[in-house]
Amino acid sequence: MADVVVIGGGAAGMAAAIEAARCGDRVTVLERMDRVGKKILATGNGRCNLMNMDELRYPRGTAFAGRVLALFGAEEQKVFWQHLGLRLRVEDGGRAYPVSGQASSVLDMLRLAMEASGVKVDTGVQAERIRRDKHGFSVQSQDRTYRAQRVIVAGGGCAQPKLGSNGSCYPLLAELGHRIIRPEPVLTQLMTETDKIRGLSGIRVKCAVKVVCQDRVLHEERGEALFSDYGVSGVCVMQCAGYVRPGSMLVMDLLEGMGFQSAEEMTEELLRRKSLWGNVPMEQLMTGLCVSRVASALCLAAGVQWKNRTAGSLTKREARQIAETTGAFTLKVKGLKGFDNAQVTRGGVDCREFNPENMESLLVPGLHAAGEVLDVDGDCGGFNLMFAFGSGILAGRNGR
Ligand SMILES: Cc1cc2nc3c(=O)[nH]c(=O)nc-3n(C[C@H](O)[C@H](O)[C@H](O)COP(=O)(O)OP(=O)(O)OC[C@H]3O[C@@H](n4cnc5c(N)ncnc54)[C@H](O)[C@@H]3O)c2cc1C
Repeated sequence: MADVVVIGGGAAGMAAAIEAARCGDRVTVLERMDRVGKKILATGNGRCNLMNMDELRYPRGTAFAGRVLALFGAEEQKVFWQHLGLRLRVEDGGRAYPVSGQASSVLDMLRLAMEASGVKVDTGVQAERIRRDKHGFSVQSQDRTYRAQRVIVAGGGCAQPKLGSNGSCYPLLAELGHRIIRPEPVLTQLMTETDKIRGLSGIRVKCAVKVVCQDRVLHEERGEALFSDYGVSGVCVMQCAGYVRPGSMLVMDLLEGMGFQSAEEMTEELLRRKSLWGNVPMEQLMTGLCVSRVASALCLAAGVQWKNRTAGSLTKREARQIAETTGAFTLKVKGLKGFDNAQVTRGGVDCREFNPENMESLLVPGLHAAGEVLDVDGDCGGFNLMFAFGSGILAGRNGR
């Protein structure tokens, strides 16, 4: 029986603790917050999208995540959850949720499993240093030293520090010789020029979005975007954040969301409406296609005078300009919302310095890392929790 200290009581840390205890280790979890798993409660809008049954989507750490999840991926995790007593429902795009629809049931199951397997949890304890000596490791907090033969660092990245992960684990690993790749926020909202979207705050639109820089398309998504005072959010837009480079544009195609296959089709429809509704104020021309505030923003961006005119005065050229702008509503990206808003951290501890079979350091035997503290990030859809749980289990199991 080995003494194992797990730093961080998040998804990866709790999975590691449960598995190490199941393998017979004496486990203590150190959690800096007043309770474990605060972030889990916020995931998936409170529903916790805890894994994904479709193809893997890890823009960063692709190969490493693939090797970890080849050993403990969706199928194995499904069995793990069933064994704990958590039943899952798989929705569109392979996204898996607890059948209760509540993130709290995921956390409750993990807490119950830790309790049942004798894991000790010390909350309100921030690990401040890890030292290695001939007997193993000592982990120091402000007022205590914990001894262990193995240490599993699962303190997450920097995303949403109010939920616990504050980047404090990077220096612990750096001091032991590990390389830290500069952390950046991903899966976060885009700050854009605001003139073109003034008055649209709170409006959702179905669209295809792409990030374009110097005529190169860096990334494309489709889904629902949400306008706000500072720019644009929504899952499809947040998914683009990791691809934004200085000078990027966000190009939104709203045609399909309005039921059109092409700008030509929309042009024809606008001209048909013109002939039917000649005396109607032009502001009504897009009624039923989108809300009026979006219609005026599109006309403004298309350079078409919209006020104090009748639909009958719309020219063919203007109809085409409005339709083309609807297909490519373009906003300059000014930046990304930071770690306070981001769901995930890109960067962190270099995963090439860890063995994906048991998450053990290749530099310091007995030291492990799991979850978001590593330089692995996945797309929205359950990929980040799936990596956290999978890598946590492998770290706890340690090849046994
Ligand atoms: C709002 C939101 C929604 C999300 N939704 C989803 C989703 O639906 N699906 C999905 O797959 N992913 C989602 N994510 C991402 C996912 O939650 C994280 O990738 C995942 O929780 C990472 O798990 P982790 O255990 O590595 O780190 P964390 O969950 O961040 O846990 C780290 C823990 O370590 C503790 N800690 C940190 N440093 C120390 C220290 N020095 N000493 C002691 N304790 C320490 C922290 O307090 C924290 O409890 C979401 C994230 C956010 C913020």
